[in-house]
Amino acid sequence: MENIYIVRCGESALKGKNKPYFERMLVQRIKKNLKDEAGVTVERVDGLIFVRTPEEIPQEDVLKRVGRVFGVDSISPAVEVPIEGLDAESALDAIGREAVAFMMKQIESRGIKTFKVDAKRADKTFAIQSPDIGKRIGARVLKGCKVLKVDVHEPDCFLYINVRRNFAYLYDKKIAGYGGLPLGTNGRGMVLLSGGIDSPVATFMMAHRGMYMDAVHFHSYPYTSERAFEKVKELAGILTDYCGRIRMFSINLLPIQEQIVQNCPEEETTILVRRFMMRIAEAIAKREGDLMLITGESLGQVASQTAASLVVTDAAVSLPVMRPLIAMDKTQIMDIARDIGTFETSIQPYEDCCTVFLPKHPVTQPKLERIEASESRLDVEALVSQAVESAELIIISQREGI
Ligand code: ATP
Ligand code: MG
Repeated sequence: MENIYIVRCGESALKGKNKPYFERMLVQRIKKNLKDEAGVTVERVDGLIFVRTPEEIPQEDVLKRVGRVFGVDSISPAVEVPIEGLDAESALDAIGREAVAFMMKQIESRGIKTFKVDAKRADKTFAIQSPDIGKRIGARVLKGCKVLKVDVHEPDCFLYINVRRNFAYLYDKKIAGYGGLPLGTNGRGMVLLSGGIDSPVATFMMAHRGMYMDAVHFHSYPYTSERAFEKVKELAGILTDYCGRIRMFSINLLPIQEQIVQNCPEEETTILVRRFMMRIAEAIAKREGDLMLITGESLGQVASQTAASLVVTDAAVSLPVMRPLIAMDKTQIMDIARDIGTFETSIQPYEDCCTVFLPKHPVTQPKLERIEASESRLDVEALVSQAVESAELIIISQREGI
């Protein structure tokens, strides 16, 4: 025996001529998230995706893994009723029989008392129209399941019926996915990944729009600890549930921070460090074919994230810098972090390289000319290329057994 799931792809279905491409990508991603397990099939049929799995794979697992694939709008565990070669009356009879059995199961497992039928005839050649399918199956269920009543306003259970060419499908729920676009349909980007709450959420949000993610992480070892680094790897691990494999470049920023502290005004330390982070990230991004830089910055959150600071930060690089959280409040960001499972790890109290050498009164309205004048005391190019050369690549593979 096998289990069947109907998967709907929302936005990807709207993309005109690109539709087959998006759907193909989506099928690939679903297969990948189900780890190509034996006996699993994933196929597109007329705008829907059908996933079939051996009965041994728990439903919960399938829902979780498929629900995390970007581009999936919703998913329904379904019962399949073969109607190939039957005339409409016999088909309706077969559907009715299965509908009664299906609703009996709902009564036994969760004690439902009321239901509402929602019938759809996707195959327009089927001789009975949707409202009549609904009425007649509803009547059949009322007759077969004596404890049930119809409640069109607040039913305990829906009975969805979808009549297609050779099969009809019955299901009671549509479990929402994350929507978005399948991974790989929007190139590759480089996220500046810290151990905080924000940048993992920013990573999730860009991947949600179809972008593969590389990451760069800066540490100030030995000022930052091994454990702080482990925390970032753990966050990247959680993110692989959504983004697939992540290539993370790890860089010790300490030599640059020391140069800045020795040669530049104290209140400019943070913004100077941030411009170096951007330059290093950009150099690696260009080498690796990443189209954009991504950060977890949000307008006004801290001194280095005022509008003026962001402008000065951006002036250090030529690649576009994407800030998906720019207009979000911290509470909204935290809600997403909880939902995607990064929050608990993010709040573990380990030091970040940005907190090393933190100035007492950081500039909030930096002037580009002043910042550039400070930088002229450093050999920016050499410092950046040394940092890039020293980068250590860590591959964070997609987690098993999610
Ligand atoms: P928090 O949740 O504490 O705000 P954060 O990651 O946003 O965490 P910020 O100091 O606000 O920390 O940094 C702003 C952005 O700069 C981050 O979202 C991240 O993109 C980048 N960043 C900060 N520290 C690092 C780091 N150590 N390595 C890589 N990127 C970093
Ligand atoms: Mg932040």
